Amino acid sequence: MTTLLVFAPGDGHTKHHHPENHERTAALGRALDGSGLMADLRHVMPVSATTVQLQRVHTPELIGYVRQVSNRGGGLLDHGDTYATAQSYHLASLAVGGCCAAVDQILTGAAHNGFALIRPPGHHAETDRVSGFCLFNNVAAAARQAQVAHGAARVAIIDYDVHHGNGTQDIFYEDDTVLFVSLHLYAPYFYPGIGGMHEVGVGPGKGYTLNVPFPPYVGDYGYRLAFDELIGPRLRQFRPDILLVSAGFDAHWQDPLAMAGLSLTGYAQITRKLLSYADELCAGRILFVLEGGYQLEVLSLGVLNVLHALLGRDIIYDPFGPMRQPEYDVTPLIERLKRHYLSK
Ligand code: ZN
Repeated sequence: MTTLLVFAPGDGHTKHHHPENHERTAALGRALDGSGLMADLRHVMPVSATTVQLQRVHTPELIGYVRQVSNRGGGLLDHGDTYATAQSYHLASLAVGGCCAAVDQILTGAAHNGFALIRPPGHHAETDRVSGFCLFNNVAAAARQAQVAHGAARVAIIDYDVHHGNGTQDIFYEDDTVLFVSLHLYAPYFYPGIGGMHEVGVGPGKGYTLNVPFPPYVGDYGYRLAFDELIGPRLRQFRPDILLVSAGFDAHWQDPLAMAGLSLTGYAQITRKLLSYADELCAGRILFVLEGGYQLEVLSLGVLNVLHALLGRDIIYDPFGPMRQPEYDVTPLIERLKRHYLSK
């Protein structure tokens, strides 16, 4: 089993007191160095994305805007909390390029699976708009790389970051060749405020966006149920050529930005389900792409757990244990989503 690692920490893209800062990947780097895993991984150097790779998922105006703000030294890119520094354009291009290089390795058979540990994250970046700390959509560019450079007919993207992947949904909303699945917290005032079950795609893309809008405090069992009853069956219908995962670790119960209630053990169970879907449907081809995760020990251990699973090892770190409060029962919601998404 060859597992690849792309490490593009984006050090120069950082802001004091901002949750999405360079400390995230610095902590990951330290955890990797101390893990004993580095020698077991195939290290893939990130290279800047080409303009063509960026333009497969973003308008020239958006790309030019990020470059321009970076070139004049950085600043806020939107009315929210999405920032750029003087290095952000270069580093965001490197993150996209790293994900595309990882896809190249997997689809040429040089590696079986892998993890792109990249910053800035990407899943909120829409076709023509940055948002939610995201400049360019890394996982979307990876999907297009699989299709355009390697002839993949169907790509599935599973997004388990606690926030809805509005950017990825936007980019593929009219597309029936990319199945986009997002599990996220869907509650009043919770960012980005979309991702309801009736957002299913339009035109040829209708039925190729699958939203799992969770209430707070779902916890491990509800997530497991969503994969077993809904996402697994939908993936079997779709038969992807490669699985891409928008891997956010902010659904953990200790995360400061949300309250979805997953444990590290719950995350590890999801990882194993995803690996078994990849084995069953697409010869094990799966790439994890880092999104959010703001409790640094949870983030680090969550990533190490994924790497152990990718290497076929049965090692799970979970010093925090399960959420302290009862899990919210989402059985009726999952039944409703099954009727909505699977009964065609
Ligand atoms: Zn998030």
